[in-house]
Amino acid sequence: MRECDILIIGGGVVGCAIARELSKYELKTILLEKECDVCMGTSGRNSGVAHAGFYVQSGTLKAELNVKGHRMLPSLCSELGVPYEEVGKLVVAKKAEEIPYLRKLKETGDRNGTHGLEIIDGEEVKGLEPNIRAFAALYSPSSAILDPFDLTIALAENALSNGVRIILSTKVEDIKKKKDNFTVKTNKVSYRSKIVVNSAGLYSDKIAAMVGIDKYRIYPCRGEYHILDKNRRNLIKHLVYPVPPKDVGGLGVHITPTIHGNIMLGPSAEYICEPEVSTTCEVMDQLYNEARELLPEISRMDFIRSFSGVRPKLTPAGSTKAADFVIEEDPQTPGFINLIGIESPGLTAAPAIAEKVAAMVGDSTELRSKEEFNPRRKPKIGFNQLPDEEKARLIKEDPAYGRIVCRCESVTEREVLDALDNPFKVRNIDAIKRRCRAGMGRCQSGFCLPKIVEIMEEHHSMTEKDLRLNCEGSELFIGRAKDLRRK
Ligand SMILES: Cc1cc2nc3c(=O)[nH]c(=O)nc-3n(C[C@H](O)[C@H](O)[C@H](O)COP(=O)(O)OP(=O)(O)OC[C@H]3O[C@@H](n4cnc5c(N)ncnc54)[C@H](O)[C@@H]3O)c2cc1C
Repeated sequence: MRECDILIIGGGVVGCAIARELSKYELKTILLEKECDVCMGTSGRNSGVAHAGFYVQSGTLKAELNVKGHRMLPSLCSELGVPYEEVGKLVVAKKAEEIPYLRKLKETGDRNGTHGLEIIDGEEVKGLEPNIRAFAALYSPSSAILDPFDLTIALAENALSNGVRIILSTKVEDIKKKKDNFTVKTNKVSYRSKIVVNSAGLYSDKIAAMVGIDKYRIYPCRGEYHILDKNRRNLIKHLVYPVPPKDVGGLGVHITPTIHGNIMLGPSAEYICEPEVSTTCEVMDQLYNEARELLPEISRMDFIRSFSGVRPKLTPAGSTKAADFVIEEDPQTPGFINLIGIESPGLTAAPAIAEKVAAMVGDSTELRSKEEFNPRRKPKIGFNQLPDEEKARLIKEDPAYGRIVCRCESVTEREVLDALDNPFKVRNIDAIKRRCRAGMGRCQSGFCLPKIVEIMEEHHSMTEKDLRLNCEGSELFIGRAKDLRRK
């Protein structure tokens, strides 16, 4: 039995933000994640947009934490060395009848405290985005983009370096409430903790049910995306959103530039029985057709990948009202902090959610600041972003910078080695991809996969049996061809 003061369940952006926030205090904090890496749930499968706060109903917790989180992100990202870009957003009306919707959004945003919103006409839209067809648009200059993998991993690494234990591949299976603590049983060892934070995303209803709170049900709602090749990046500069269709959840199929220079189309919104992240031909066609209404230049030839993410909705299909975030300590179960229904804008709100949870922890536990807390994380070197002289200096210092492993994203061998040396010791193909982008480009690792495998074998003495795409069960090889032939 391992002991701690706080046990966080879930290594998504919210759980990691909470872990980082609590690492500011003299507390023994442990985070458990069932997968073999952080950011393998919804946090790694979204639009990567820092929403400015005009989509969420005023007066809700969601609105408060959205606006607060959006204000916190620039300095948080700067502390953690995570790129953050205020590209601005246009919510585009294609016809005059859609203007009342823009006005409604602006009013909501003004009430919520979003800065700088204005409604602009078609000509002004053309000035900002020559390729976009619009009658008018709501312009939000402070809407921004970031890489959700980067943010989540940075939060987790910073929490770890400030003393939080982050334990991966550990699934919570049962929780027993004792007099003044909880016993948390996992597939490995058990933990005893005074406070438990349920940040399990799509499975948060099941975790709550383990302590007898069975009033919540998560309805998974999938959103699919296309990713476009970087050579189409100059098609748009801003986030471009439509006026969403009335009867569908979500914000409508939008066109999102990513911080790395791709464009994404999506997401769709489809209720499904189980949280499952496949993509479908029908939705891929639908995304293409809807996006072309805003941006006719897009072609199917531009697509390099599709993916999907699942929203943990608290309302079933057909509901007209969006549910608020649930962040509460049930009076029947003191010490158990539940976070349920943290759907969009959960990525944006994560730092504000973390502050709120820390304050809730502070209601029952003394929060003594840790003197040695270091808010900074050493930023990664994005070799391909550096000026030539700096590149030459680095190559001279370390020849591994001179060997390109991923041609599409210009990722060097040194960056792959650094990704492999991550503090969590997660060593698989997807973990490398999330950390240095090797395999994220046009060829989708067709070129770099064998090179990465070679590096893993050479530098970490991994055998073919240890080489995985991601977690257990995703082995890349079943043996060596010669050995297999002999058998
Ligand atoms: C299509 C889509 C688009 C979105 N776009 C945006 C956007 O642009 N901007 C924005 O702000 N928000 C966006 N969101 C919302 C945002 O992605 C989520 O709100 C956020 O990622 C939720 O983070 P989380 O940490 O709560 O959940 P998750 O990332 O799902 O983390 C929960 C973790 O808990 C772990 N877990 C579950 N059960 C157990 C268990 N029994 N034991 C141990 N661990 C467990 C899971 O493996 C998972 O890693 C979008 C969401 C979707 C689906």
